[in-house]
Amino acid sequence: MDHFLYRDGELYAEDVSIADIAAEVGTPFYCYSTATLERHFRLFDEALDGTPHMVCYAMKAASNQAILKTLANLGAGMDVVSGGEYARARAAGVPGEKIVFSGVGKTRDEMRLALEGGIRQFNVESEPEMEELSAVAQELGVVAPITVRVNPDVDAKTHAKIATGKSENKFGIPISRAKEVYAHAATLPGLKVVGIDVHIGSQLTDLEPFRLAYRKVADLTEALRAEGHDIIRLDLGGGLGIPYTRSNDAPPLPVEYGQMIKEELGHLGCEIEIEPGRLVAGNAGILVSKVIYVKSGEGRDFLILDGAMNDLIRPAMYEAHHDIVAVDEPEAGIEQQPYDIVGPVCESGDTFAKERMMPPLKAGDLVAFRSAGAYGAVMASEYNTRPLVPEVLVHEHQFAVIRARPTFDEMINRDTIPEWL
Ligand SMILES: *Cc1c(COP(=O)(O)O)cnc(C)c1O
Repeated sequence: MDHFLYRDGELYAEDVSIADIAAEVGTPFYCYSTATLERHFRLFDEALDGTPHMVCYAMKAASNQAILKTLANLGAGMDVVSGGEYARARAAGVPGEKIVFSGVGKTRDEMRLALEGGIRQFNVESEPEMEELSAVAQELGVVAPITVRVNPDVDAKTHAKIATGKSENKFGIPISRAKEVYAHAATLPGLKVVGIDVHIGSQLTDLEPFRLAYRKVADLTEALRAEGHDIIRLDLGGGLGIPYTRSNDAPPLPVEYGQMIKEELGHLGCEIEIEPGRLVAGNAGILVSKVIYVKSGEGRDFLILDGAMNDLIRPAMYEAHHDIVAVDEPEAGIEQQPYDIVGPVCESGDTFAKERMMPPLKAGDLVAFRSAGAYGAVMASEYNTRPLVPEVLVHEHQFAVIRARPTFDEMINRDTIPEWL
């Protein structure tokens, strides 16, 4: 469910007309709904009611300061995967003790930043990383709380580029080696083991892979406790999928996911952490773009938009589907026609959809890519020296630009010409 609905024949975000934002901000732009962000965060938080837990928003999905602040105000923790994200979370007012640090290649500088600034835990992914972290913590005279990310070797049944829990993936340590690795961790003076971490992939549309992975984590918890490790926290990762089309079967709801977690892990008495990203932000954002030209090709019409692959790369990178809707509500029963919907970038990959059935559109019309709130703006670039796409946040009848479109001069002035030129 989201808060982008037609009202009086045009698309609104909450109580604000998308066309009004476009008139003020220009296109393309991302638009987020506060109400949807809050609703999705609360669904997860409530799904774990009755169990000690922390929902750590995976901020790589959408990391604008205003989005982080919106979620932090509801008590969200953050899952960060870089020093930059750690700094962003802190800048948005998230205390260190609510931040977990994930990622397969943390550097010494990143470790130091988080240890000095405060951290809830590091999710460690390898033995070399464990040794490095212990050394950095010792230098600083502190002890780093850790979980070890285990790779449970389950098939998440999702797109290959976002599956992370099979043994061939680079993530975590094989669960079969967990006892050895935990024994190693226990010998390192700069570390304190607090739990186990697992994250098997993204855009999962079935609970079964999660259940299989969590069962393995439950068994491992008992095995590690028997060896004397103090397992008090289980970080279960993110990955619950969202409906990208209206027609598809809907993925499981957070409440069903929470119920399954309680069933599989409730008896262990651990504090549960989850790291949803996509489900919090995905349907809370749209990308609004304008038709520049309608071009008739051989046997097909192209809708050439002012948004491009540099603004939203998911179709090019993951063959992802986004529903695309006209901002002016089509008249009921109007005949649709197929369009290839493309951007202006000089790559054939700059194609959002082929033979997509749309109402007749003309130059100047606005369209909205739905479900673009996660892995949209954060993956945008300035390829073709197209200004980084701005972001807008709506709250009831108000809206604010939360990241402005850079001017050409701002883009150009980031470069410097060496003296010898
Ligand atoms: C990407 C990621 C997440 C979030 O995944 P979603 O599919 O967006 O929920 C959570 N944890 C880790 C470790 C990740 O890498």
